[in-house]
Amino acid sequence: MTSRIVLNGFTRLAAQACGAALDLLLPPRCLACERTIAEPGGLCAVCWADMPWLEAPRCARLGTPFSHDLGAGALSPRAIAEPPLFDRARAAALYKGPARDLVLTLKFGGRRETAGAMGRWMAFAGHELIEPGTLLVPVPLHRVRLWQRRFNQAALLADAVARQSGADAGLLVLERVRRTRQQVGLDARERQKNVRGAFRLRAGAEAQVAGRPVVLVDDVLTTGSTVTACARVLKAAGAAGVDVLTFAVADPVTGDR
Ligand SMILES: [Zn+2]
Repeated sequence: MTSRIVLNGFTRLAAQACGAALDLLLPPRCLACERTIAEPGGLCAVCWADMPWLEAPRCARLGTPFSHDLGAGALSPRAIAEPPLFDRARAAALYKGPARDLVLTLKFGGRRETAGAMGRWMAFAGHELIEPGTLLVPVPLHRVRLWQRRFNQAALLADAVARQSGADAGLLVLERVRRTRQQVGLDARERQKNVRGAFRLRAGAEAQVAGRPVVLVDDVLTTGSTVTACARVLKAAGAAGVDVLTFAVADPVTGDR
């Protein structure tokens, strides 16, 4: 019996060692699909061509794309009708196609390699938000969900953007004190109600925030109700400004999320 246990343990260790060796031997794969690529940590040519990157011209406030250039500082009808509590939002891509695949890969796999690439593209998309002294703050998960998932994808992204840009990441600045329903499937008013009072500043984080420009980091921006609830807490704590940087933003035409 003992020898069988030892053998089983040995077999498992051998299988793990083989798995690690295979990872080194197999060609690297695209982060958004299964195609093989030359260098690890990137996209294949097909996903790169399909990626719905967001480029100027865009709404100066919400970062959503314009079909034609309206000049510097132009605002979208939505930003004028419902000015957000945060100052500016920027995203690398629209939430569809390979961008959506990347968000889901990160959310359910949590691979640092995926977060690293997404963080690089976010740092590029949000370069005008990040200045000396900027604090990158991820939207927190409730501790029960963090325990279930084992990682917070927003924290992985904030850390990746920090490494890319040189800005500080404040991974323990905010906490989610109330469990909230998943926002998917709720309308804008229900989303606002769902996250009201859900966030607070962690004890001892006041000095980190007061007088500093803060950039809230999340994977996807949809109606903005979650980041608005976080921005309210950060502004009350004396942040010099609160911007929002996400990897993707819901398609303003289809409202996809
Ligand atoms: Zn691909």
